[in-house]
Amino acid sequence: MKAETKFYRDTWAEVNLDHITYNVKETLKLLPAGEKLFAVVKANAYGHGDIQVAKTAVEAGAQGLAVAFFDEALSVKKAGLHVPLLVLGASSPHAAQIAAEQQISLAVFHLEWLKEAEKQLTEDQVLHVHIKCDTGMGRLGVKTVEELNALAAFIKESPKLFLEGVFTHFATADELNTDYFEEQYSVFKEMIGALEVKPPYIHCANSAASLRFEKAYFNAVRLGISMYGLSPSDEMKKELPFPLKQAFSLHTKIVHVKKLNKGEKVSYGATYEAQKEEWIATLPIGYADGWLRKLQGQVVLAGGKRVPIVGRVCMDQCMIRLPEEMPIGTTVTLIGKQKDEEITMDTIAEKMETINYEVPCIITARVPRIYKQNGEITEIVNPLVN
Ligand SMILES: *Cc1c(COP(=O)(O)O)cnc(C)c1O
Repeated sequence: MKAETKFYRDTWAEVNLDHITYNVKETLKLLPAGEKLFAVVKANAYGHGDIQVAKTAVEAGAQGLAVAFFDEALSVKKAGLHVPLLVLGASSPHAAQIAAEQQISLAVFHLEWLKEAEKQLTEDQVLHVHIKCDTGMGRLGVKTVEELNALAAFIKESPKLFLEGVFTHFATADELNTDYFEEQYSVFKEMIGALEVKPPYIHCANSAASLRFEKAYFNAVRLGISMYGLSPSDEMKKELPFPLKQAFSLHTKIVHVKKLNKGEKVSYGATYEAQKEEWIATLPIGYADGWLRKLQGQVVLAGGKRVPIVGRVCMDQCMIRLPEEMPIGTTVTLIGKQKDEEITMDTIAEKMETINYEVPCIITARVPRIYKQNGEITEIVNPLVN
């Protein structure tokens, strides 16, 4: 497939699906027998592409999928995969009918919601639900055994509802100090212990918990960030049981090169001034692509060399200072590898004063995604041109 057929601007993100396969397979090897892996593909698979990642993860052995919102579940359904698909966040009860029809499982934590959802369902429909427990995240979920049992009892009584799972979420699984994590884990164990009938799926572990502790987490884990090859936190890097492979990289090409004289300025505000004769190149990527203004001064790779972004990042463009003249069309890697050099997602996150999770999520849909498998381009996604 020729890349030129699907986009014209010289900026693209590359998603190496082989790395997703590797990260999923290595994680599966670590899990105790019988423990299932739900691949978390919310937020367009953390910016990587939901359908592509869902397919790859399921092919690699993931037995389930999870998203944050019902609309995302509808999008992932288009992949045509026959594994459980769970909406982790709050859904409208009005989604119940379509959810049952499309076999999408919903998170529940409120009796009134269940009553309302039940009303939406037709006679022969069965909605699969997972009860969410709040064990210390303070976000969504029932907090007491009584609430949990009240929901479980209502579901059991209703022929239109099926209790497929119970789950919780950790607030600090990626931190070195495990006290709070252990506290949450024991609250969850207590809640599960009090359940009369155990559902098929009981799950609590995110990437950090899945990779970190060699214990069984009931019978399923929810793998997000590490499936994409990113560490859940800096602290966790030394605890990782295998080296993760980053799937996402970001590239552009030089579209203009000029020599500036000493004292000449670059970009809005004229904040950058050439100190001597300098080669300045223009890149067609800016904050509207998610390449934020905070990235002024960040180093990127051009011709295998580390070069700085100079002047303010504009909406659609930014400038770099080259050590020597380079031809128009030279590939510039903003996230990823060139020769022996690498700019990691973590480096960009640090410069942006955020966490690695945020970086691929905010690379906007204006940036085409190129998918690679076995070294070949398998698909190009560009919503603007397709
Ligand atoms: C996002 C999310 C996950 C995945 O977390 P990672 O840290 O990316 O592995 C798991 N469970 C819930 C409820 C989530 O919202």
